[in-house]
Amino acid sequence: MTAVSAPATQHTADTGLAAALTDAERQRILAKSALFAPPSGVLPDGRRELVGLSREEMTQALLEIGEKPFRTKQLWHWIYHQGVTDFERMSSIARPLQAKLAERFVIGRPEAATVQTSNDDTRKFLFRFRDGQEAETVYIPDRREDRGAVCISSQVGCTLSCTFCHTGTQKLVRNLGAAEIVGQFMAARDSYGEWPSPRGETPRLLSTIVLMGMGEPLYNYENIAKAMKIIMDGEGIGLSRRRITLSTSGVIPMMDQCGSELGINLAISLHAVRNDLRDEIVPLNRKYPIEELIAACRRYPAASNARRITFEYIMLRGINDSEADARELVRLIAGIPAKVNLIPFNPWPGSSYKPSTREQLAKFAQIVMDAGFASPIRMPRGRDILAACGQLRTESQRERRNQPA
Ligand code: SAH
Ligand code: SF4
Repeated sequence: MTAVSAPATQHTADTGLAAALTDAERQRILAKSALFAPPSGVLPDGRRELVGLSREEMTQALLEIGEKPFRTKQLWHWIYHQGVTDFERMSSIARPLQAKLAERFVIGRPEAATVQTSNDDTRKFLFRFRDGQEAETVYIPDRREDRGAVCISSQVGCTLSCTFCHTGTQKLVRNLGAAEIVGQFMAARDSYGEWPSPRGETPRLLSTIVLMGMGEPLYNYENIAKAMKIIMDGEGIGLSRRRITLSTSGVIPMMDQCGSELGINLAISLHAVRNDLRDEIVPLNRKYPIEELIAACRRYPAASNARRITFEYIMLRGINDSEADARELVRLIAGIPAKVNLIPFNPWPGSSYKPSTREQLAKFAQIVMDAGFASPIRMPRGRDILAACGQLRTESQRERRNQPA
């Protein structure tokens, strides 16, 4: 894990203490995250999964079977550029070595248990992993151009329980591993036949990633970071960090590290501008309140005028959608290179909120716009197949461990 230095500030005793506290908190989060680790990448027959290994790990795995490090570059190309899952198709590798690799390794994909395509062409995949756990991934094609976003899950379930979110009603089962995170993207690509990876500016259908599916990505930081580094590697999938956005409900201690280590775009699930309301609808706010969250956004290393932070704001009728709320919102984020994404509430079975009226949405958006922030309204996509924001949930359940009989 790369060490991250504290943001440049005056070296007073206070800032030193704050940095030490943040560091301790970060260690605590990483340790807790390890308790929900995914299963190992070794199959019952002893073969090892290659997807999800860093280049260094792949080289190590090859050395262990007596192969030279330069093979990593070859394998990486076949796996991540060509999208090949069968060693026999690796034509630059001699047959005997192909057979040896197939005996020791596997290049897997999560199994698509169901695939549903919405009447607006949004496609939702329910992926089943090796241990039977499941998570959902959504491909949202652009309405006008041949490109689109893949919304990727980071956990099975979520520890947080935002009151408007369907995933939040499902307990955290476990974190997804790097292989499962990269695997969601690769399997979605299989579904559109988008291999080999389009290079550079060549148009591609699966052109952006939003880490906005099930779970809190900053509570599974190490697997997310490993997966994103694989996806950004220029000799493979080669997606630019500018095309990846991570959404967090506000896990402040991990935000700096995400910005300096990955440099990807950040989206903040803000949803309320007063601590009393945010405490209620985004309970993580009790730990990391609004002022601290906004301060962490101001120092986010990868933000600039060209790469603005997105504030996501779900519009709940009569709860957080008043004009006073809109004015407070623009006061809070003044000076941050930001845009505000207004999200109409998407209902799910058992939810009790109502979406804001069109008029209220328009009034709210106007105030934000007048203050100089872009305020696109996120059109719900895939509602008919429960694929829209906040509608994802699976039947996966946490096994009862260490429970008395
Ligand atoms: N845990 C992370 C990422 C996943 S949620 C986070 O909370 O940011 C992705 C986005 O969907 C968040 O902005 C979330 O607040 C929003 N969302 C959740 N439930 C929703 C619903 N019912 N309707 C619309 N958006 C919702
Ligand atoms: Fe978890 Fe995000 Fe849903 Fe909140 S909105 S419960 S953090 S997935």
